[in-house]
Amino acid sequence: MSAFIDELNSRLTDLRQQNLFRELRRVDSPQSPRLTIDGRSFLNFSSNDYLGLANEPALKEAAIEAIRKFGAGTGASRLVCGSLGPHHELDEVLANFKGTPAALAFTSGYAAATGTIGALMDSNDVIVLDKLVHASIVDAARLCGAKVRVFGHNNLNDLEKILRWADTRHTMPSIIQTERKPRTLIVTESVFSMDGDHAPLREMAELKEKFGAWLMVDEAHATGLYGSARRGLAEELGVSAKIEIQMGTLGKALGSAGGFICGQRPLIDYLINRARPFVFSTAPVPAAAAAATAGVRFVESAAGEQRRNKLWANVEAFQRATETENKSGAMERRHKPSAIIPIMIGEESRAMKIAAALREQGIYIPAIRYPTVAHGQARLRVTLSATHEPEDITQLRAALQSAMNLKS
Ligand SMILES: *Cc1c(COP(=O)(O)O)cnc(C)c1O
Repeated sequence: MSAFIDELNSRLTDLRQQNLFRELRRVDSPQSPRLTIDGRSFLNFSSNDYLGLANEPALKEAAIEAIRKFGAGTGASRLVCGSLGPHHELDEVLANFKGTPAALAFTSGYAAATGTIGALMDSNDVIVLDKLVHASIVDAARLCGAKVRVFGHNNLNDLEKILRWADTRHTMPSIIQTERKPRTLIVTESVFSMDGDHAPLREMAELKEKFGAWLMVDEAHATGLYGSARRGLAEELGVSAKIEIQMGTLGKALGSAGGFICGQRPLIDYLINRARPFVFSTAPVPAAAAAATAGVRFVESAAGEQRRNKLWANVEAFQRATETENKSGAMERRHKPSAIIPIMIGEESRAMKIAAALREQGIYIPAIRYPTVAHGQARLRVTLSATHEPEDITQLRAALQSAMNLKS
């Protein structure tokens, strides 16, 4: 036992020396622009609760009502006896919201990614990933044993080269011996989680059609925020109908927890049969499913439209301010709006120092470091919410200015 503990302690020491050690901070308040941590109040710019729904009365009421009617737990996986009313309602509401024939909710976005990719692909297939896709997709691709190829971030030329290679590979005699035709699946995020930029979904959809590949788009940071029905970036770009597999999460703008897949009925029926994290895992608790349903309904309503507009007004205010005050280029203005605004720092130790200086001023933005982003690309990931007020943004701006001027 002591040798085991010694080894772990030595590994932890390495992490500390590399400025990569992480620890939990206990939050004693709901998600909101203000967080209580260790008895102190902080202005929070790190949540993915973009529309402020995590603490919205309509979602809380729905969760409480579901607990009253269906209890705290689900007792089994959905395929055994845990497929409760709130789960069916959520699947229906999601399909309707996204305008697809069917949908399936998972306990997490991570489970949706690993379950779906694992169900569809195996060692005969090729998975083509954007260099910056989320860890859940990377893990899914590795787990299923398919050949994995990575294209440069949003680089269509690179993607096309890989698709051409996959196409010739699939027609090689040694490959076509297998029972089914080998497939190529392209996976991207629509709005990237750590950079906030957008994938060229239209061009990607054209490429996948040209090469007969499938396309899966993770809208974790776009659901509820883009498009006239707030379905996501695919809606805004008018390409939803071309995407075989639309993924989203319930724990960001939708205010609850979980993940989902939308698409044609056969896709959903196949996932119910084959997605291992769906088949072999206890169904999400009724409260989570009911809160998510209320979150979708909120997003669909006029109040959802108002929140979305307020969020973009906040993003605009922050960008305008940093544009005039910071000419160093550290915070670039983008043409396309995103609630995720990374402030690139580089070195891990400097990012930690700046985050600590911000905490001193009552601003909470943890430094994002490896392995969430590449080594030497540490950053402050500022996220804005519809529930921030103009004064909050003024305060953030002032705190950032003084913290960024720290000597490294
Ligand atoms: C958060 C996130 C996930 C995982 O979703 P969870 O519900 O938190 O497990 C997947 N993809 C992206 C892009 C994410 O940001």
